[in-house]
Amino acid sequence: MKTVNTWLEKHNLKNLPTLIVMVAFVIFIFMIIAFLNHNDEESSSIYVTEDTDLRTGPNAVYPAIKSVDQGQNFNKIGKSGKWIEVESSNHKDKGWVAGWHTNLDIQADADPNANPLKDKTIVLDPGHGGSDQGASSNTKKHSTEKVYTLKTAKELKTLLEKEGATVNMTRSSDTYVSLDDRNIKGDAYISIHNDSLKSSKANGTTVYWFKDNQKVLAETLNAYIQKKALLTNKGARQENFQVLRQTDVPAVLLELGYISNPTDENMITNQLHRHIVEQAVVDGLSAYFSE
Ligand SMILES: [Zn+2]
Repeated sequence: MKTVNTWLEKHNLKNLPTLIVMVAFVIFIFMIIAFLNHNDEESSSIYVTEDTDLRTGPNAVYPAIKSVDQGQNFNKIGKSGKWIEVESSNHKDKGWVAGWHTNLDIQADADPNANPLKDKTIVLDPGHGGSDQGASSNTKKHSTEKVYTLKTAKELKTLLEKEGATVNMTRSSDTYVSLDDRNIKGDAYISIHNDSLKSSKANGTTVYWFKDNQKVLAETLNAYIQKKALLTNKGARQENFQVLRQTDVPAVLLELGYISNPTDENMITNQLHRHIVEQAVVDGLSAYFSE
């Protein structure tokens, strides 16, 4: 304390007003520096180092707004994970680009070719079966839900196993399995159904989730199904279904079209269209597990 006093006296700073002005000045300088740094961080100019896409959100799941060429300049206006929100200087284009496609020092995930589904266990639950036929069509085909949920699950199983996933099915044949017995553990749980309504007009796919830890999987799968499938997309919705309620793992219930709608029925019973939907589910799961 003595040395401080001596120093203050020596520099003629013993009176309080001078001290306050000095301290205020130092704080002011720090604020200026902080402001300049902040500005630099938020609105810095960046450029794209290779041709890529501008997307509506910070993930490859989101739709592309437009493609951008290598060398194009943008103002950086935000950041989420490894994705950068950018705006063109004329304010015409705004969206998200992958950080590793910009001049910023952001590395893509270790091995982009690594298979995110390798060593994952996916549970597939083909709805209904045996004495419970599920929904059915009113057309000459008389298609029943239990047949197409099982076909879809078996085809999906083959595709998932090609990606290195382990697949467990709640049923593999035309047998009745209670809802309680369908509660099998895995890294993800996918229950497969077809919708129906009295009115043959209702159509489209819906992805249901119930618990909070199921929402991201539902939205991711829905985005991929929307992108690929020809059916109307009714979105990801929350619903209290027992198979979703009784499990703790990320789980969804897919309603892959209305079997009561003749157009949807044609797609459900068409192997080529089922394959498109199944591949969309595989791609969605890959995206989900690569996060
Ligand atoms: Zn069903």
